[in-house]
Amino acid sequence: MQRLKALLLSAILAVAPAAADTSGVTPMISIAIHGGAGVITRSSMSPEDEAAYRADLARALDAGYEVLQSGGSSLDAVTAAVRILEDSPLFNAGRGAVFNHEGVNELDASIMDGRTLRAGAVAGVRHIRNPIDLARLVMERSPHVLLSGEGAEEFALEHGVELVPRNYFHTERRWQQLEQARSGDKYSAAEIGYFGTVGAVALDREGNLAAATSTGGMTNKRWGRVGDSPIIGAGNYADNNSCAVSATGSGEHFIRTVLAHEISALVKYRGLGLEDASRQAVHGTLQAVGGEGGVIAIDRAGNIAIQFNSEGMFRGARDSKGRREIAIY
Ligand code: ASP
Repeated sequence: MQRLKALLLSAILAVAPAAADTSGVTPMISIAIHGGAGVITRSSMSPEDEAAYRADLARALDAGYEVLQSGGSSLDAVTAAVRILEDSPLFNAGRGAVFNHEGVNELDASIMDGRTLRAGAVAGVRHIRNPIDLARLVMERSPHVLLSGEGAEEFALEHGVELVPRNYFHTERRWQQLEQARSGDKYSAAEIGYFGTVGAVALDREGNLAAATSTGGMTNKRWGRVGDSPIIGAGNYADNNSCAVSATGSGEHFIRTVLAHEISALVKYRGLGLEDASRQAVHGTLQAVGGEGGVIAIDRAGNIAIQFNSEGMFRGARDSKGRREIAIY
């Protein structure tokens, strides 16, 4: 009896991998996006506002997913999704970016390729409509990883990127947030209670991971402050050997804890699953230093983890197993 059981078991184990290999199933694709985390409660948002947020999140999610579905790369998918969120006036990136103390929008963005560990980033740019495109140009056409301020814009001009006037980024809502922050002598969106950075992570058919993050930073920021979003390892990271991560929240804490890389390291060296690694990083490491915010993460099996310690986070996830969801609270 025992012997029969053992034989049966070994027969099952022997056919299991073969069955999976010959099933003809196309490889898993999946994508997750976020539009920032913070004090976002049902009572603080009108039904019209909520519908508008959901609509733009859905457009970004589906645009990224369609790239993957048509066989495109994860890099193209995250770029497409983030570009849509940058063009929306609702999120703190591109067009809807927050103002710094001087009343100017200064934008940060980064992108990373999990296959090669190549990365590109820009910080403090003032005339770039889609900073994520420029970050990608830095990765693909420069020998550097991070370009800042005027130099980054000079590089953009040399590569034919059209600069937009500063008033392209002016939205009344952000201006009022700045005035509110200035009058209360508050420095950050944390104190106003809202982070609206955008980001995307994706897995493509080739099994490659990518991550992209873009932001206006923090309302009322000063002295050329740069947050975590353009810092590789802090607000953005991708490695095919572990996972891809995009973050949003109180940037200084994400820099100090190198949070995106922390998640990758927990997966890679500790062997934690994506969900456990993300939870530990956000509710353990980040929380321990007083940080607030959230992450989206994805691994090579197409698993998606979304963790935040703030009240809400604009987010979306879609994969080839039929999952498609947008959530806020
Ligand atoms: N993490 C961003 C920063 O600190 C802010 C945000 O997520 O909205 O620049």
